Amino acid sequence: EKIPVGISACLLGEEVRFNGGHKQHSYIQKTLGEYFSFRTFCPEVDIGLGIPRKPIRLIRRDEQVICVDIEDYKLDYTQQLRDSADAQQGWIRDMCGFILKKDSPSCGMERVKVYEGHGTTKDGAGIFAETMMQRFPALPVEEEGRLGDAVLRENFIQRVYVMYRWRQLLR
Ligand code: SF4
Repeated sequence: EKIPVGISACLLGEEVRFNGGHKQHSYIQKTLGEYFSFRTFCPEVDIGLGIPRKPIRLIRRDEQVICVDIEDYKLDYTQQLRDSADAQQGWIRDMCGFILKKDSPSCGMERVKVYEGHGTTKDGAGIFAETMMQRFPALPVEEEGRLGDAVLRENFIQRVYVMYRWRQLLR
């Protein structure tokens, strides 16, 4: 039996990005795929944004970080992304870990660019990912970019395996 792990759909080659492309990651798909049974998701498609679509970004407004249309900051998708993460808690809680697409205003785990005035800071998290991590703080989460680091990769795999064993004991 493979271990169930959630993953940003574009990392498995699904053409769901704003430009109709993907960000297929062959190590994750081929090597980790031998052990993990992947469950894909795309928060932006899930809330009804099309493919292709205009990009969205994080901005800071009144001390809050929100997710808006890149050209029209009045189009605010923050609540929809949060609500979508909450509505999907049923399957999210069944996963033993998550692999998230870095730098995404929806999926990024940390260090996502936040626009403020004429500058940017790299201290945001994707809105869907952040909501999910708040609801399930014990779930192992990692980004594809960091899986190239052997120590971080082993650490993540270990945490996923511990979660899997723990779930088996509770069955
Ligand atoms: Fe990939 Fe997430 Fe962006 Fe969808 S929202 S294209 S899964 S990074």
